[in-house]
Amino acid sequence: MEQKPHIALLPSPGMGHLIPLVELAKLLLLHHDFHITCIIPVLGSPSKAMKAVLQALPTSIDNVFLPPVILEEEEIKGLKLEVQAMLTLTRSLPPLLDHFGIDALDIARELNISPYIFFSSNAFALSLAFHLPKLDETVPCEYRDLPEPLKLPGCIPIHGRDLIEPVQDRTSELYKMFLTNAKRYRLAEGIIVNTFMELEGSAIKALLEDEAKNLPLFPVGPIQSGSSNQVDKSESDCLRWLDNQPHGSVLFVCFGSGGTLSYEQTNELALGLELSGQKFIWVVRTPNNESADATYLSDQTLGNNPLAFLPKGFVERTKEQGLVVPFWAPQAQVLSHGSTGGFLTHCGWNSTLESIMQGISLIVWPLFAEQKMNAALLAEDLKVALRPKTNKNGLIDREEIAKVVKGLMVGEEGKKVRNRMKDIKIAAEKALSADGSSTKALSKLATQWKNHPDF
Ligand code: UDP
Repeated sequence: MEQKPHIALLPSPGMGHLIPLVELAKLLLLHHDFHITCIIPVLGSPSKAMKAVLQALPTSIDNVFLPPVILEEEEIKGLKLEVQAMLTLTRSLPPLLDHFGIDALDIARELNISPYIFFSSNAFALSLAFHLPKLDETVPCEYRDLPEPLKLPGCIPIHGRDLIEPVQDRTSELYKMFLTNAKRYRLAEGIIVNTFMELEGSAIKALLEDEAKNLPLFPVGPIQSGSSNQVDKSESDCLRWLDNQPHGSVLFVCFGSGGTLSYEQTNELALGLELSGQKFIWVVRTPNNESADATYLSDQTLGNNPLAFLPKGFVERTKEQGLVVPFWAPQAQVLSHGSTGGFLTHCGWNSTLESIMQGISLIVWPLFAEQKMNAALLAEDLKVALRPKTNKNGLIDREEIAKVVKGLMVGEEGKKVRNRMKDIKIAAEKALSADGSSTKALSKLATQWKNHPDF
């Protein structure tokens, strides 16, 4: 019997990485018939949401968990999310090999496997990674202190303070790790990036012509958690609630798989939504004053009730206007529901792609990682989003929230961004169509794999 090429997929820790990689696995299986195994690192035990995603995989895609990594509370204290994620990955990998490897690229080489990087964000963030060694050599100060915005090739100008978190403090270990990793991208045999030509053509072209010249680049997006993934309606309060709302009337509010707000900001958001008078579904997390990504790698559902932190009487007062959902909602299905008319998002790239695929315009509220770059791309470049302003205390206050929510849902400015988003949805569908740019890029990648000398 002819043996199929075997592809191993190794996501970074966190749902935002697992979801698009699993979707890529499904596409590769459906269109190119590979044997696929997902190898999954976890911090602590797998969350309910993670198990649900894996259980929904076609049985022909194998998945194995690497032995879970336990980071003691003392060890985690004060560690940035990215460092926790890198530690989890590094400590998960040894079982793949008999001895300790530095990271997956080295391990792949040692096992004679061709390593490819799946970059789950966009070309803008990838440009930064490629450009960083040069910036590091030429910029004498912290990037955030530069008076002028930076101009990455083919991308919109961006302020140093809006670049990804790991480059915000050049004296930190995290920055050094990030810079080292960025230089090592070239060790891969190719980079698969979750974007598409029609969305970020100039950034992709600039990468191909310059920084990533000799490195095959495959823009295969949007790869996103399809709304076709089955969710049992009877188990989903929000889908049933949406069924009873007018078309396009509901704002979905969700900060990704682990975004958190401070106590004060949670309070302002609640009162702002109420003040707007617009319908909403809000996925609520327990507030945290220390960090905006407090629940990214941990299972939030253990032992707390986020609704207890909402303003007194809020749930009762807004019971006709909105629905609060603790921890998690079936986001892709909510976005594809006809009653949903807007999305207040932390700008995670998966959330962004899911809203593009449904043509849902946005309010951008970036929290961590590369989200401020995504927010700039969405609001300033693509013009598919409105952006609320922060007051002098660093808060987005209730009046501002109410104003922007009304603006998006019923205002003139909302109409404009909605129309733009519809155009981008059409472009995304085209990219994914039979002879679209992303379908072609995926076929090129599959051909490269099938023609690999080892097969
Ligand atoms: N998600 C979901 N329900 C939630 C929160 C998140 O289904 O209540 C999914 C969302 O649809 C997306 C992923 O989790 O596929 C979040 O990825 P994203 O890149 O937007 O943000 P991250 O979680 O990495 O910050």
